[in-house]
Amino acid sequence: MRKVWDFHGGIHPPENKHQSLQTPIQQAGIPAELTFPLSQHIGAPAEPVVTLGEHVLKGQLIATADGFISVPKHASTSGIITAVEERPIAHASGLPADCIVLESDGKDEWIEHSGVADYRQLKKSGLLQLIRDAGIAGMGGAGFPAAVKLGVNPEKGSIRTLIINGTECEPYITADDILMRERADEIIRGAEILAHIIEPEETLLGVEDNKPEAIAELRRAAASSAVEIVVFPTKYPSGGEKQLIEILTGKQVPSGGLPADVGIVCQNIGSTVAIYRALVHGEPLISRITTVTGAALQQPQNFEVLLGTPMRYLLEQAGYDQGKNPRLIMGGPMMGFEVPGADVPIVKTTNCVLAPTAAELPTPPPAQACIRCGLCAEACPASLLPQQMYWFAQGKEFEKLETHNLFDCIECGACSYVCPSNIPLVQYYRASKAEIMQLRREHARSEHSRTRFEGRQERLQQEATAREAQRAARKTAVEKRARQTAAGDGEQDLIQAAIERARARKAGKLLTETAAGNADPAEAAIEKAKAARAHASAPSPEEKTRQTLNKLCERLAKSEQKLVESRASGAQDKVIEALEATVVKLGEKITAAETELATYTDASAPGSAPSDTAAVDTAQAAIEKARARQADAAAAPPLSPREQLQKNHEAVEKRLQTVTSKLAEAEQEGSDTVDALHKSIEKLSAKKQQIETALRELGD
Ligand code: SF4
Ligand code: SF4
Repeated sequence: MRKVWDFHGGIHPPENKHQSLQTPIQQAGIPAELTFPLSQHIGAPAEPVVTLGEHVLKGQLIATADGFISVPKHASTSGIITAVEERPIAHASGLPADCIVLESDGKDEWIEHSGVADYRQLKKSGLLQLIRDAGIAGMGGAGFPAAVKLGVNPEKGSIRTLIINGTECEPYITADDILMRERADEIIRGAEILAHIIEPEETLLGVEDNKPEAIAELRRAAASSAVEIVVFPTKYPSGGEKQLIEILTGKQVPSGGLPADVGIVCQNIGSTVAIYRALVHGEPLISRITTVTGAALQQPQNFEVLLGTPMRYLLEQAGYDQGKNPRLIMGGPMMGFEVPGADVPIVKTTNCVLAPTAAELPTPPPAQACIRCGLCAEACPASLLPQQMYWFAQGKEFEKLETHNLFDCIECGACSYVCPSNIPLVQYYRASKAEIMQLRREHARSEHSRTRFEGRQERLQQEATAREAQRAARKTAVEKRARQTAAGDGEQDLIQAAIERARARKAGKLLTETAAGNADPAEAAIEKAKAARAHASAPSPEEKTRQTLNKLCERLAKSEQKLVESRASGAQDKVIEALEATVVKLGEKITAAETELATYTDASAPGSAPSDTAAVDTAQAAIEKARARQADAAAAPPLSPREQLQKNHEAVEKRLQTVTSKLAEAEQEGSDTVDALHKSIEKLSAKKQQIETALRELGD
């Protein structure tokens, strides 16, 4: 006989297990609608991979694991996806959660699946992946992902003992008991698979002595196996992981530690069977054994139930009398919690649905003052001080609660059970844990924000320092260049003068900017543009003279043209004389402008602009041309009256064509010279007629 140990505390409440053990496991069947909460486990909720209206097969993936600590979900029967929405679920918070809703088609048609021929041929990582893909989470407690738990063995040999937990200590619940009675072979094969993965020195299956039928079946199934069946005295809560480890090995898991810290890994009976079915038959976790019991039922029993089945569906199969049942509990009377209604679905962790009558599980009487009897501390299996923790919880002294190892409390309810003052101690601890976790989350969030803020400040400081360093480097470089170029006398002064000019320009710019103040940016831009244009258009004296010279040249050319035309058209003498005087005057002015321009522009100077020279040349050429025409006109032989009239007629004709062409352009452009041009044409036409009349009068 293997030696077993005992743990501190514990109680012996009425077991009430026989009611649900009267019949073998019953198949619950297929309900019309099934609901799959995306979170049925510890860790991140699964992510849906189906669409509304999609037809899915039994065993088909409907939600994938979202992260390392998460598990996927599979359809437990074939049917149509009808909704992905919030629904009421079985959770201590009583809050609804996101669910996938499936309307069954009644065919229960499996997706194609198969197990591995020989799991021993697969690597450990491959086996863990298959377990993860099958969506297996702990089925006896909070639902920790099985693959994560099995993967904590980082080095070969660090896990000495594998424990299969067959200790179903909570009153009323018999799901594991009946599983061990009816499917002991699957449990032992599953334990062997786990031992193959973990490679422990020993594999122990712990079971309480109040399950003789299960013990007999397990021993039969394990006869040729390395799995050792260890039986020990019944006491609540032996099923607690730390308590079972102490019973079977005598080791105590340190406060805040994990079983792996003492070389141990634990797995639940239901999870062990699920792992066996996943690897040997290729079936994901889509059903479980659930005890449906309580005095409000006619036939308490254990069902093999599809995950997602509404509680009401199970209760009705067990002869549920809702009138006798004031509250519906998921789990047992010690660690279970009340659910918001009978429509919540069965999930991976639903080991029991308890429908007690009011007499069977009466509402606790009002709490009295603590009488400091110490019974709670005697009963606590975690060796805590429930009485002190109660005071701290009342005063919300969370730090003291933590130093009193609040998080070692397994919420077994043994303290509440023994308290003569009926103080709901465990409820205080649950509430305090929730508040502390919330504060931790808020603290983590604020720490995250603070870290980000400090990081930003540091970055800005670094950038400012870098900018300052660059400025200093530039200044040094400028000064160095200045020293290098200041080779000759006076150069240093020139540099200094340049620096002073740059400073003055900068100061001027600053003043301008300051004066601009809060002016409209658009107006400022316009003003700036105007200033630039004014500056650009303001001619220098030299440019002014050159412009004058150009204008004089143009006027001279026009006057010459007019003079020629007037002579040709036989204009009056006084008109011709006036034009001649104008040409002479313009010639004098041009000479004066040339003289003035010569004072600005030294033809030999390197700065003499080509354009300046060209302008002077153009003006000079125009003057020469005018003078040449004057000379030609003076030197021409006298014409006969007819020749003069014909020449005049040609000139008038030509002039008339030019003015007519200008009139057409002016009309097209809408110019205000149109009227003047019309008058000019009238005059020229009249002149032309006069000449023609004179020619006709002269005859041949
Ligand atoms: S059992 Fe109840 S009354 Fe006794 S010490 Fe603990 S809290 Fe107080
Ligand atoms: S509920 Fe917590 S404090 Fe109370 S007996 Fe259990 S472990 Fe101890």
